[in-house]
Amino acid sequence: MYSLTCTLLLLFARQVFNKPLEDPELRQDYYQGDILYQPVRTRNGIVNKILHWPNGTVPYIIEKNAFDDSHHREILRAISIIEENSCVVFAPVTEEEHSNAVVIRSNGFGCNSAYLGYRQIQQIVNLQIFPIGMGCFRIGSIIHELLHILGFEHQHVANNRDEYISIQWDNIQPKFNINFVNTDNSTLWHDFGEGYDYESVMHYVPKAFSKNGQPTIIPLRDGAENMGQRLYMSEKDIRKLNKMYNCPGYV
Ligand SMILES: [Zn+2]
Repeated sequence: MYSLTCTLLLLFARQVFNKPLEDPELRQDYYQGDILYQPVRTRNGIVNKILHWPNGTVPYIIEKNAFDDSHHREILRAISIIEENSCVVFAPVTEEEHSNAVVIRSNGFGCNSAYLGYRQIQQIVNLQIFPIGMGCFRIGSIIHELLHILGFEHQHVANNRDEYISIQWDNIQPKFNINFVNTDNSTLWHDFGEGYDYESVMHYVPKAFSKNGQPTIIPLRDGAENMGQRLYMSEKDIRKLNKMYNCPGYV
């Protein structure tokens, strides 16, 4: 019992703070690891209302037979966490109504989203099956993919990031340099006045795409203890989502 507890604790710690190299969010064949199509280069939060889900409502389908009961429940739990912390609503729709819906499925490797924000087409979120609490089934990983769908980019490419993190280019596998580039200075993105957030569920882990086990992202300020966490929406994640969707009290 003792060793089982230890093993579980170790696994837990490894998942949270020192994710294994094979992080399913960090797949090499996707832009920034988990976005299928290179997005309009928005940085952190999409400002353009056209790309926000109308009325803050996301029609969705969890693909039939893709998940067993426990995984199905975990997806619903992630949806509930977003709903309980904002005015965004996920509305289940029928198979016939799927053309503009988010289809959550498990078809192939990794956890990833097709596009950022509302695109007036069917959106796919893929979640590879892992034990609950691991890989794509860490609650924060499911929330992370759904926040991409709602219109959020990775935190580490925000255009003020160089004041908060130092990118260690020498430690990045060169073919993945693109995942760390932030040359975009357009006004299409916004942090909604919340500032940089080490604790964001949209932040990369310190060793994302490392070629040598050394950090690729080094925080420059205090408060980065939970950088890369996939357990919860940070307070800023919650406020940014509420501001993006003009939720009551945030307008
Ligand atoms: Zn992502």
